[in-house]
Amino acid sequence: MIYADNAATTKMSSAAINSMIDCIKNDWGNPSSLYSFGQRAKEILSSARKNIAECINADPDEIYFTSGGSESDNQAILSAAKIGAKKNKRHIISTTFEHHAVLHTLEKLKKEGFEIELLEVHENGIVLPEQVKNSIREDTCLVTIMFANNEIGTIQPIEEIGKICREKKIIFHTDAVQAAGHLPIDIKAQNIDMLSISAHKFHGPKGIGVLYARKGVALSNLIEGGAQEKGKRAGTENLPAIVAMATALKSACENMKVNSEKVSALRDKLIEGLEKIPHCELNGDRENRLPGNVNFCFEGIEGESLLLLLDDKGICASSGSACTSGSLDPSHVLLAIGRPHEVAHGSLRLSIDETNTPEEIFCIVKSVAEVVDYLRNMSPLWKDKVCGKREFVLR
Ligand SMILES: *Cc1c(COP(=O)(O)O)cnc(C)c1O
Repeated sequence: MIYADNAATTKMSSAAINSMIDCIKNDWGNPSSLYSFGQRAKEILSSARKNIAECINADPDEIYFTSGGSESDNQAILSAAKIGAKKNKRHIISTTFEHHAVLHTLEKLKKEGFEIELLEVHENGIVLPEQVKNSIREDTCLVTIMFANNEIGTIQPIEEIGKICREKKIIFHTDAVQAAGHLPIDIKAQNIDMLSISAHKFHGPKGIGVLYARKGVALSNLIEGGAQEKGKRAGTENLPAIVAMATALKSACENMKVNSEKVSALRDKLIEGLEKIPHCELNGDRENRLPGNVNFCFEGIEGESLLLLLDDKGICASSGSACTSGSLDPSHVLLAIGRPHEVAHGSLRLSIDETNTPEEIFCIVKSVAEVVDYLRNMSPLWKDKVCGKREFVLR
């Protein structure tokens, strides 16, 4: 099997698995218990919190453990909205190509009377700081813009956007789920007030994540109960997962430079190989993208058919977003960067990591080329294009 769907989830690293098992076996006490076995669990919890804080240049006090990226996004946005509402500020700025964990939370707020302004993304999949600057109003209470897009991998000018928000004293949240462990994050230098992280996107376990909230940004609870996480997120801590997440993040950050160089070289090979297929185009900026992200549109193809045939060849890839599979709508991200419906349907996301080999990249290119050719030859629409009865959309 060739796994090329790391943006959907990653394989847990051996180190993360080992630390998780060790915790399950030996340190299964409740961090809230007063006897020393519980206190030992509490110390392990603090140490994991400290390690994670260091990876993003935050204070351990500013790290809240959640069940993952979706929960962190929900809590961050709803908290900022509540702070805003108290001051009668109900204008929120975001973008059209956020993850659904952000977009659906914003839709909920819209029904509660908030005004949601979604900035258009440029064709290259990037929003400009000026767009944010020009949209800020007296009653803006939150700017939430993702660090890197999960479908097309484009990296946003987070530091500049953060600077603008800081100057205007507006809360800035970023969904950094695709960035954490893959791109340098420094919440101080990048002027970030709130940030979401999910462990399973950097070789940690599923169902665990982090919400970073700067001191002074008051969180409101999604879950009421005990006093865990300074009373902001109740429930006995998932210590084995937290420990494994800390192991995975630390390792990802320590090896970031080496991995990123290796993975982006493979990515560029993959892009160069796929570009040779006629009538296709890379989605998202070529330079400003995650080291492991490749996303193409192939004209005259259904993404789903492409995926299934690649699966037959043992290749795991993605088309659009896994969350929307089952619906017939094309990816909202590809529509956001201006791809017409017809072309957006023929998309393929390959997200690779440091364990992929040059041989695998070669095999992916060859397989995609074969499958695209096969599918096009079956399509009456494609035949019309080839004999000039219809226009090609992509060169
Ligand atoms: C995966 C992902 C999420 C959701 O994270 P979960 O931990 O699966 O809830 C949110 N945002 C982005 C950008 C993602 O890639």
